[in-house]
Amino acid sequence: MSVTNPPLESVLISESCLQQRIYELGRQIFTDYENQELILLGVLRGSVLFFADLARAIFKAQHESQMKEVALRFEFVQLMSYHDSTQPSTVQLIRGGSDYLKEQHVLIVEDIVDTGHTLNFLCEHLQTLNPKTVKVCTLLDKPSQRQVSVPIDYTGFEISDTFVVGYGLDYAQQYRNLPYIAVLGSI
Ligand code: 5GP
Repeated sequence: MSVTNPPLESVLISESCLQQRIYELGRQIFTDYENQELILLGVLRGSVLFFADLARAIFKAQHESQMKEVALRFEFVQLMSYHDSTQPSTVQLIRGGSDYLKEQHVLIVEDIVDTGHTLNFLCEHLQTLNPKTVKVCTLLDKPSQRQVSVPIDYTGFEISDTFVVGYGLDYAQQYRNLPYIAVLGSI
């Protein structure tokens, strides 16, 4: 089977920049939730690499602080977004969070926030599950593309309106395993 991917134009965020920033986010999140229980809620599939590295960064912060801890648990949701220039965006829940989130501190871990529709949908869905608190951590943010206002508590990088792949983000399900973020060439 041959797979022809469009070429990558350039590296936007290198592997070392990603890891340094995720380390900082881990420390910040650890400080904010120290001595509490926290559920990391990953949004499949794009957030998987970020989710895994962020969870380890939170552990490293705990290891460095020695005395304090954050009791981390993992949960996942899967969403499908349909964007069409002629209609408002619709988002569908493929796999939901569970009762597991009830009365818990929840931190949504997203790959990228673009128009905001996906995150807005997810936040509304989570409210029906009665968590204690909900915050949002996104690796990438494209603020210039926002159509609905969404609260973001932790941001890795703000980027301009360009289509990116890698580190979990795909083009036609390809490129998710790049260890860096790249700009896709002409399709
Ligand atoms: P939103 O609902 O905020 O417009 O879109 C969020 C979703 O759109 C992301 O979870 C991601 O799946 C997709 N998306 C938005 N921008 C990009 C991008 O630059 N590259 C990739 N690969 N996906 C994107």
